[in-house]
Amino acid sequence: MNDDLEQLALRKTLAIMRAHPWMAPEALIDQVIRIRYDSGSYEGKKLKFIRLADRFHKAVAPHTACRSRCSACCHLPTMLYAYEASALANASGRTMATLPPREPSLSLAAAKQYFGKPCPFLKRDRCSVYEVRPVICRLHHSLNAGPEACNTSLPPEQRRVASYDVDLVEGPYHAFVREEAPLEPWGCIHEFFPTNPA
Ligand code: SF4
Repeated sequence: MNDDLEQLALRKTLAIMRAHPWMAPEALIDQVIRIRYDSGSYEGKKLKFIRLADRFHKAVAPHTACRSRCSACCHLPTMLYAYEASALANASGRTMATLPPREPSLSLAAAKQYFGKPCPFLKRDRCSVYEVRPVICRLHHSLNAGPEACNTSLPPEQRRVASYDVDLVEGPYHAFVREEAPLEPWGCIHEFFPTNPA
């Protein structure tokens, strides 16, 4: 990240934390710990993570380069759990493939081939399953001044994208699902929906 982008991301990060003190790292850590370890069912806790991801999205939205009809990040290999794919299948009526449980590193290696390819649910540059989109899609954003650097056809050195620290939510979310359901398959959206073009 160059100095200008670093400064911009820092200014936006501080503005987000000022407007939403619950977005400060220690406050977010506290929230995900409560979701994971308070009493409640696995299903209920998954819903709480989705709600937290939505609040996160709303807090960062005024500061992002993300705009309607910009679908750059929908050309990245979107990773999701089978239960999230199942929600997409139900909402869209599409058939979903069954993936085997795999080591995360193997899933990521398999997903690389889909870099730059449009998500199977992208329709005219809009998400056709927005209400049930996976957690990763709810969290992903850019704090850059504009969307240009998100373009997946650019060489890697020109794709410098700053964001609020999504790992504060995404990391504990993965740890939670893998602890509660170690055999839950995790893979790329293109693997779950290989024969269903938008
Ligand atoms: S599910 Fe929707 S938001 Fe997520 S990558 Fe696909 S089109 Fe984009």
